[in-house]
Parts: sequence; structure tokens; C-alpha cells
Amino acid sequence: MNPVSSVSSLNSVDAEACAALSAALSGEVVLPGDEAYESVRHVFSRKGEPAAVVRCRDTEDVRGAVLFAREQRLEVSVRSGKHSLAGFGTCRGGIVIDLSPMNGMELVDADRHRVRVAPGAVWSEVAEFLAGHGLAFSSGDTASVGVGGLLLGGGIGWMARADGLALDNMTGAEVVTADGRILWASAEEHSELFWALRGGGGNFGIVTSFEITARPLERVRYGKVVYPGAEAPAVLKGWARHMRQAPDELMSHVTLFPTRGGTPAPITVIFCYAGEGGAEAIDPLLALGTVESKNVDLVPAPKVLAPSGGLPPGWEPTVRSRFVPDCDDEFIDAALGGAGTFDTLFLEFRSLGGALNRVPADATAFAHRDCEVLMNTINMGTREANEAAAPALARFWESLAPHVRGAYSNFLSEAGEEDIAAAYPSATYARLQAVKQAYDPGNLFSRNPNVKPIAGS
Ligand SMILES: Cc1cc2nc3c(=O)[nH]c(=O)nc-3n(C[C@H](O)[C@H](O)[C@H](O)COP(=O)(O)OP(=O)(O)OC[C@H]3O[C@@H](n4cnc5c(N)ncnc54)[C@H](O)[C@@H]3O)c2cc1C
Repeated sequence: MNPVSSVSSLNSVDAEACAALSAALSGEVVLPGDEAYESVRHVFSRKGEPAAVVRCRDTEDVRGAVLFAREQRLEVSVRSGKHSLAGFGTCRGGIVIDLSPMNGMELVDADRHRVRVAPGAVWSEVAEFLAGHGLAFSSGDTASVGVGGLLLGGGIGWMARADGLALDNMTGAEVVTADGRILWASAEEHSELFWALRGGGGNFGIVTSFEITARPLERVRYGKVVYPGAEAPAVLKGWARHMRQAPDELMSHVTLFPTRGGTPAPITVIFCYAGEGGAEAIDPLLALGTVESKNVDLVPAPKVLAPSGGLPPGWEPTVRSRFVPDCDDEFIDAALGGAGTFDTLFLEFRSLGGALNRVPADATAFAHRDCEVLMNTINMGTREANEAAAPALARFWESLAPHVRGAYSNFLSEAGEEDIAAAYPSATYARLQAVKQAYDPGNLFSRNPNVKPIAGS
């Protein structure tokens, strides 16, 4: 409960309505001036100045917050784990509907490995919970990323080639819609909404509970091998050739850290084999060049999630992603040649294929099912440094245009028209628009890679 005095610090929000909301919640409203405000206003990579942060504890709280935001005509930010790279989980002058206190989970069907997970849990918590039941789930690569944002956008995790995207293993979701209804969306009920939730992000309502299907798995073979930066072209070409025919159980990333003005940074190949075997699949990745260091371990499944480490103060990385249909030598030479002209660019290549690519393109709103690799660039630094680097970065990506297409909506720090068109091919976008029109015609949920309702397009 807030002291009534702090309510008066809101400019655009009706103080009485805010006090009424606060009184009705199991959770709390945090306002500018409250002691907790500093700890809830910002997200992973962006600063915010919301007029109010509603910390929800249950579905009714979310419903109350949605109706309040609608009545007060406030811009709405929704947040689960706070890792949106575009900073959509906070805002200036609007309301943040914060789901992080909703972090419970429950095994609802042991035979089918079905689990209900609240959106504010983070993936390390989910992994530890599942491990307690001998289960695992392919989420992402980072412990502190939240369930809500990752599942709604995609989820390219350490078992994506074996099990598909995280969203491919979503079997249902409880949703609070813009008009305050509480719905269950699944293949049987509100099936178009369910289709849109799997890839269309937070456009259609606020998900208060997800049902996911995990798989029995206790340990995986996980490791990394580091090669000299000077060997990057040969290493990346060898990696791409191997991953093209590797078993689905093997997932791998290649990363190149920024040089920061020094000598070429080493190239690192990270891999995870979804099971206890895998030596034959992994060995070729250990022989791509002159090994500087390597480790391969059999580890409990939760151990593959890395701590995110946070960002140095003031950093707001620019993140861009595109899919690579054919990760051939020509593409690799173009990518590494162009990237070599930056000294602040982190480069990542994620292998795709396997189960992820066997899902039909129109089965979910994540339509990119026929590419070999996802390439991400992260330009490290402050907003000013990134603005200065933006024209050169745009030219770099333009030079790769013949080799890349699409975009992964969860790996974008901007969501301009070009990015949204890339994330959602035209048939996907048209179908998403129809769902948006049906469930959020006023575009209450607009702080996301936004799909415009048909009437407003
Ligand atoms: C360090 C780091 C590592 C990452 N690694 C991976 C990875 O390995 N694989 C991968 O696929 N992605 C990865 N990502 C991207 C990640 O999937 C997205 O940033 C994702 O949006 C984060 O989800 P969140 O809940 O933590 O973020 P939030 O900022 O809380 O949410 C992001 C957005 O999703 C929407 N949203 C969130 N929850 C809900 C909900 N319950 N209902 C409706 N809308 C909601 C809102 O629009 C919100 O603004 C990574 C990101 C970071 C920063």
C-alpha cells in the first residue's frame, strides 16, 4: 500500500483512482517518490521514469492494472524478467505492469511432463524446478531472462535443434485481454490467439500463466573451445559445415568479442549436446583450428544457463539480428570482413535447423523455419557511442543484405517498421493484425514490436 502523499506526485494519473487500485491489489503500486521506486523504474538495458509501477501478485491484480491503465489512458509497459533489449519493460510517464512477483510453477501432468509457469519466473528458477522432477526445457542461454518475454517471442535455447523453440513447447496460456477478460488460449480454445501468442510477443494481452511441455533429461554435455581470432574465417566455415549435418541433439553458438582497439579477439565455439553421449558430434568442433583452450563437461541441465552479469553503468547496447538461409563461405567472409572494421561489436552466430526448422512456417507466429543460422550483432557502449556508430553499422548490415533475411523480434533493440516487417513476413503480419483487431483493437499493448490493429493500420 502506498502513502497517499506519494500519489500526488503523479501528474497524469488520477490520484483517487490510483489509491483505489492500490487498495484493491494483493500486490502494490510503486510511485515516484516511494522508497522502492529506484529499484523498479529501470530494466536491463534502458532507464525509465514511469508514472506508476504496479507489482502484480495474481491474475486479478493484472486485470485491475489493465482496466486502470485503460481508464486513465496511460501508455502500458508489461514486464516479466526485464530483459527486453528495446527497454519495452519500462516507459516515461506511463504505467508498468510488473509481473515479476508472479513467479510460481507447478507440475500439472507428470505423465505428459506438463508444467504451469508464471511469467515472472526466470529461466534458472524454472530449470532448477524441472531438474527436481528429472525434467528439462530448452529456454535460452541466460539464467536471468524471464519466462514471459522469451516464450512469447521465441526462445532459441540450448536444445532448440532437439526440441524446437521454447514457444513450440507451449501448450496453453492464461491471458488478460485489453478489455479485462481472462481467457485460456490453446489449440482448442481461442486458437488464433494461441497462434499469435507464439511469436507475436506481448501484442495481444498479458499472459499470467503458461503451460509448457518439458522433457525427461538430467544431464547434458556442455563446453566451449577457444581459437585464435586470426583463424576466425576457417573456424566459422568449419563450424557451419559441421552443424549442417550434425545430429539434432547438438546445438552450438560461435561468438566473437569486440577487439576494443587491440588484436583480434579469440573466437569461441560453445556447444550443448542434449544427452550424455555426443562425443562423436562434439569432437569435430574441437578440431576447427589451433585450440587455445577447451573444456567439455557432463553437467546437470540447469548449469548451461549463464549468469547475464548485467551491463556497465550507462551502457545501452544496440542489438540487431537477422537469419541466414545459407551460412556459406561467401557470407562468412562478408560478415567477418565487415565486422572487423568495428572495435566494439560483439558478433554471435547460432546454429538453427533440426526440430526448430521442422515446424511449418505458419504453425506459429514465428515464421523463420528454413534458415541455417541466426546472426546477432551487439554494439557495446553508451547510447551516444552507439548513435555515433549507427551509420557504419547500418552500412555493414546493408552489405550483408544478399545473405540474410527476417529478424528475431527478441534480439532487437529497435522495433522500427523495417524490423517489424523483417520479424513478421507479410502473411504472418496480416494474420497477427486480425488477431490484434479481435483482442486489442485500441492497441493498449503497444510497447513491443508492435502489430497495428487492422482499423488503425
Ligand atoms: C542477456 C540476454 C540474453 C538473452 N539470451 C537469449 C537466448 O539465449 N535466447 C533467446 O531466445 N532470447 C534471448 N534473449 C532475448 C530475450 O528472449 C528477450 O529479451 C525477452 O523479451 C526477455 O524476456 P523478459 O521477460 O526477461 O523481458 P521483459 O522485458 O520483462 O519482457 C519483454 C517484453 O515481452 C512482453 N512480455 C513479457 N512478459 C509478458 C507477459 N507475461 N504477457 C505479455 N507480454 C509480455 C512485453 O512486451 C515486454 O516488454 C536474451 C536477452 C538478454 C538481455
